[in-house]
Amino acid sequence: NFKMNGNLDFIQNLVERLNSGNFNEDVEIVIAPPSLYLDQTRKLARKEIGVAAQNAYNASSGAYTGEISPEMLKDIDVHWVILGHSERREIFKESDDFVATKIAHALKVGVKVIACIGEKLEEREKGTTFDVITRQLTAISNKISDWTNVVIAYEPVWAIGTGKVATPQQAQEVHEFIRKWLKENVSEETAQNTRVIYGGSVNAGNASELAKQSDVDGFLVGGASLKPEFGIGSF
Ligand code: PEP
Repeated sequence: NFKMNGNLDFIQNLVERLNSGNFNEDVEIVIAPPSLYLDQTRKLARKEIGVAAQNAYNASSGAYTGEISPEMLKDIDVHWVILGHSERREIFKESDDFVATKIAHALKVGVKVIACIGEKLEEREKGTTFDVITRQLTAISNKISDWTNVVIAYEPVWAIGTGKVATPQQAQEVHEFIRKWLKENVSEETAQNTRVIYGGSVNAGNASELAKQSDVDGFLVGGASLKPEFGIGSF
């Protein structure tokens, strides 16, 4: 997730560096540039690299100034979208229900979704992390029944862009809870098959410890995805 960073040259260099990396066949890489650069990124990136928008609206077209639709993403061969990022929830006041509506629309159109959930610092300190996760997952499950094309990103808000990473135990505890929730509220199969990725100040130094946790299936990387360490070597 490049967030609102980069320009034509920067993104070209970053994608070229990624293109020259080695990929394990069982690792899926998806990059999310600002929407203005999606088309350029899709044309430049190797086919094995997925491209995601950082947001999309819950309608196909119409009088929604400033928005883009999942249909438009498909039109330029972009098949992923990040929805419910905490920066959207916080800064742009996106509610659980609105996020869920956007997830449902993207899935209906055939765009895969990285759905972000996670608690704020005060919620963790109050001991309400699982309540928040339950509330956010319930809002989604009220609008969708098929989770096949959903990746859940657990992103504790206090760890995003702060340099404060969750400990492997903290991440594992919530990931395990998410999987249990899926089992009890969707299905055993969904719980087994849904990827639950962690986001929050992940970098080259802390990724391998977090990756050892049994319910951590991958990462959503923000700030570090813009650094040279990202994309050097192999995935
Ligand atoms: C993110 O953008 O979702 C994120 C986790 O950011 P960072 O890695 O910078 O904390």
